Amino acid sequence: MNRPPALITRYRHLLPVTDATPVISLGEGGTPLISLGRLGERYGVRLFAKFEGMNPTGSFKDRGMTLAVSKAVERGAQAVICASTGNTSASAAAYAARAGMRAAVVIPDGKIASGKLAQALAHGARVIAIDGNFDQALTVVRELAESSDIELVNSVNPFRIAGQMTGAFEVCDALGAAPDALCIPVGNAGNITAYWAGFRAYKAAGTVAGVPRMMGFQAAGAAPLVLGHPVAHPETVATAIRIGNPASGPQALAAIAESDGSIAAVTDAQILDAYHLVSRTEGVFCEPASAASLAGFVMRAEAGEFTPGQTVVCVLTGHGLKDPDTAVADVPAIVRIPATTSAIERAVFDG
Ligand SMILES: *Cc1c(COP(=O)(O)O)cnc(C)c1O
Repeated sequence: MNRPPALITRYRHLLPVTDATPVISLGEGGTPLISLGRLGERYGVRLFAKFEGMNPTGSFKDRGMTLAVSKAVERGAQAVICASTGNTSASAAAYAARAGMRAAVVIPDGKIASGKLAQALAHGARVIAIDGNFDQALTVVRELAESSDIELVNSVNPFRIAGQMTGAFEVCDALGAAPDALCIPVGNAGNITAYWAGFRAYKAAGTVAGVPRMMGFQAAGAAPLVLGHPVAHPETVATAIRIGNPASGPQALAAIAESDGSIAAVTDAQILDAYHLVSRTEGVFCEPASAASLAGFVMRAEAGEFTPGQTVVCVLTGHGLKDPDTAVADVPAIVRIPATTSAIERAVFDG
């Protein structure tokens, strides 16, 4: 596939890089903005999915990681480390391998989708599983990064946020304008912070006239920003947003307030409905956390939140192949028949 040039090259004028910054790239970004025509028609809006599963490691984390790892190389760091619900570790492992650097990833034991773990291991990262959740993992890696020469590449790293602004740039570039609303899953709240910064930067540069309403969605079992306090034991099928104390919570709430947006919780049932809906009716396979944005859109649309003809973008943050266990958990049974033409013909149209 003919991928566009590295994000750092393409959006250089809007990113914190200089000629001294190396470009550690895997061809990230340039992901498709896919029209969800059937679903949009149902609710009278122009609905699109920004399908971030098409990034090199299958999630939007690559947009921030290309910059975070490039800057780590620039300043001569010896290794990178992150706490992760999965996708950050896959991305950090890949970009560190690309840079010829060591990566260590700290994950909550047993709570990581198998595709993501496979990636971190395949890229040769040191995978450290702790008896604790993401929030605890982040606390320990932040402490370690402060007292060592290891670069922290979680979204508390400002270069992660800067790189992830490019998602907003691409949405505007594809539409020729900012959308009316952006629906986005919220975990550690870095991405909603980055998108909002990106939309504002494009408006300030005069590239677009407006900014969208930022609509964030958390899983009901992990909804600290909706509840107004941290959640000690977050639980959800959407493991990528299983976070009880988001590091960029204040920035997310500011983005929501400044954009006249909103934050709401969606249940695991709503998330899984949206997950199946978009894969079966639109051909787009995202992971459960990503479907929180679409579940939120459906909830908002049914409440009459959008005016007819508005343009709404749902960020589908990661690829469905990341979490094969969820994918095969609730699907039609495999049909087992003899190897004859007539039996197969019947099986195609029956059921
Ligand atoms: C990281 C991640 C999120 C959450 O993004 P935050 O920046 O932590 O809010 C959502 N979906 C997927 C697939 C992710 O990997």
